[in-house]
Amino acid sequence: MSEVVATQLSGWGRTMPTVAQLVEANSPGQIAELVQHANSRGVLARGLGRSYGDAAQSGGATVIDMTTMNDFTLNPDNMSVTANAGASIDEILREIVPRGFFVPVSAGTRIITVGGAIAADIHGKNHHRDGSFGAHVTELTLIDGLGAQHTLTPKDLKFWATVGGMGLTGVITSATFTVIPIASSYITVDTERGNDLDDVMSRMFARDHEYRYTVAWIDSVSSSGRGVITRGDHATIEQCNLDGIKDPEAYDPKNIATAPALVPSGALNKWTVRAFNEGWYRKHPKERIGEIQRISAFFHPLDGVQEWNRIYGPNGFLQYQFQVPDAAGYLVGMALSKLREIGAPSFLTVLKRFGPGNRAPLSFPQSGWTLAADLPAGIPGLGRALDQLDALISAEGGRLYLAKDSRQSPTNFARAYPRLGEWREIRDTMDPKRVFASDLSRRLEI
Ligand SMILES: Cc1cc2nc3c(=O)[nH]c(=O)nc-3n(C[C@H](O)[C@H](O)[C@H](O)COP(=O)(O)OP(=O)(O)OC[C@H]3O[C@@H](n4cnc5c(N)ncnc54)[C@H](O)[C@@H]3O)c2cc1C
Repeated sequence: MSEVVATQLSGWGRTMPTVAQLVEANSPGQIAELVQHANSRGVLARGLGRSYGDAAQSGGATVIDMTTMNDFTLNPDNMSVTANAGASIDEILREIVPRGFFVPVSAGTRIITVGGAIAADIHGKNHHRDGSFGAHVTELTLIDGLGAQHTLTPKDLKFWATVGGMGLTGVITSATFTVIPIASSYITVDTERGNDLDDVMSRMFARDHEYRYTVAWIDSVSSSGRGVITRGDHATIEQCNLDGIKDPEAYDPKNIATAPALVPSGALNKWTVRAFNEGWYRKHPKERIGEIQRISAFFHPLDGVQEWNRIYGPNGFLQYQFQVPDAAGYLVGMALSKLREIGAPSFLTVLKRFGPGNRAPLSFPQSGWTLAADLPAGIPGLGRALDQLDALISAEGGRLYLAKDSRQSPTNFARAYPRLGEWREIRDTMDPKRVFASDLSRRLEI
């Protein structure tokens, strides 16, 4: 048995830490034993802790650190990767990109595990085209709430309850997912600015389908809601050659800095963010076509700064990410106005379009818009403003992303995820004793 160490755990937002009994995973058999001998607070798998809120922590419970089970293999002939659940996407990319492959869906950070990607059913800049991560998983193995091991495929309802199931159906121990062929480790990027939010949204609506990847950064401090849209596709060798790139397949992303450990809360305020946003907007040209960017610069710009979450100071921060159908697209503007009204500064505000959702009852993405804003915790009036937005969003058929959530109410969650009952029925067959629990599952009464 691995050592059990009482450890304080929190999400990436560093709010609401709790203490759990942390154990390193070493084999499916050991995980089954931990499940069978769980205490009354239960068991939870944890990956690299990049969910923002309380999804990967569970006060008083046994939390299994999956990152020690991290082997993986690329199967180039059938274009797939088979990985232990604790393998990080960072390590996988370092192996597969130089060999001409890329993950089917990439989040805004590569410092996440395969298990975390499945449990949150992560989405990327290509959701409108390729769906979320779960759509590309062909098989997974899981230890259920009785300690039994299962191999699940997309034919099984249990598979879809696990995709987006936030670790509450069992511990994923390994998975196979497809990868896509790429010619180079570069992306050809087109950039355009939108003068205001309507302009940004109509440009995205009109042209996103022409590109594999698209995203917009929104100036959340400016009353116009202006923004910068970046869209891209994997670059060919010829495009790299034309740009003078010597080794177009090389891939070796580096850390460029580490955030200071002691940043006072309040360093990010509406004045500093206004100055940053003005500079960021002006830095981008009105229009630029065919810029060649490294994969890491296009997908994971924040990963270059280690522990950047510390810039929010000791109070931490939260990310408010919601999704609404096209018919309720007006809520994007309303959310931005509400945040401006209370003076909530966000330098990282991102707007994307989603394509259709998948079969997973708790998967977050559905057709329409998704807006994500990073916000310092503790701004006066923030809780009330977000509660009001939650209600408007769920009334319009929208929802919040569980991997980012740290504060919504159980009532709002149940209203926003109408397939919760269906998911619970499957969960009850997988975990009849309710062994799997997190601070999030207790808060939301899942
Ligand atoms: C900078 C940044 C950018 C991000 N961008 C995006 C984005 O663009 N799109 C997106 O979708 N998400 C994004 N995220 C969120 C992130 O992708 C998800 O929270 C993801 O789940 C994190 O993976 P992890 O390994 O860190 O999991 P953790 O945070 O450790 O865990 C997340 C959930 O997965 C469960 N889990 C982990 N491993 C297992 C396992 N082996 N078996 C069962 N359950 C397990 C946990 O119990 C928990 O409920 C971003 C996060 C950051 C910090």
